[in-house]
Amino acid sequence: MRKPIIAGNWKMFKTRDEALFFILKVSEKMPEKEKVDTVVFAQAPLLRCLITRQGEELRIGAQNIFYEDEGAYTGEISGPLLESYNVEYVLIGHSERRQYFHETDEDVNKKIKAAIRNDLLPIVCVGEKLEERENNLTNDVLERQIKNAFKDIPAIEMKDIVIAYEPIWAIGTGKTASAEQADEACGFIRSQIKKLYGPVVSEGIRIQYGGSVKPANIEELISKENIDGALIGGASLDPDQFIEMANAP
Ligand code: PGA
Repeated sequence: MRKPIIAGNWKMFKTRDEALFFILKVSEKMPEKEKVDTVVFAQAPLLRCLITRQGEELRIGAQNIFYEDEGAYTGEISGPLLESYNVEYVLIGHSERRQYFHETDEDVNKKIKAAIRNDLLPIVCVGEKLEERENNLTNDVLERQIKNAFKDIPAIEMKDIVIAYEPIWAIGTGKTASAEQADEACGFIRSQIKKLYGPVVSEGIRIQYGGSVKPANIEELISKENIDGALIGGASLDPDQFIEMANAP
């Protein structure tokens, strides 16, 4: 059985006080670590103050990492720095990074390698645009993204990797993929992992769904065979909603 993983992506929201208030409010109410993994991805300057307050039950993650370990890359965040702050998770390839910051599949691949090098656990985001879905290209897009993301990543590293299926048309739009659509896409992703790494890796890897997940729809989504948790944007900003969703599995 795969352990569910519920993650909040705060994006560019929350000041220091708002973030501390959130942690204070939710930390006693997170599910047991043995049952569910929970993590919130915060803006980089918040990491230091949140990490010192993280418990076993709620981990703090970074929203980005650069693919070189150091150098003249103004404004970027290095893996060694994240590791030195005991950051555990890092989000890689979110569609907003791909769209607004022109991250390519190749960048995603290099960032996964940087995360592995620095002992960070990556959540790797993939997903199609609305016009791609409408033109029946969903599987082609997912196949390409998966193949490129994991190029030259050995099977042994795959046990620490989580994949998030996030159809771009469902992010921040209030339009959730139906539980069947989400399960089908996550199943397709699993089949691609099987093709690349075989059945042991593909049965073990955790695949989340993301895109307008909220307390009202999380249970149905994560009850599906191929969906092992959720990556939640908007609804993760509210402590009460996050508590409810973290305890859904
Ligand atoms: P949403 O965002 O839950 O607000 O749709 C999900 C995400 O971008 O990870």
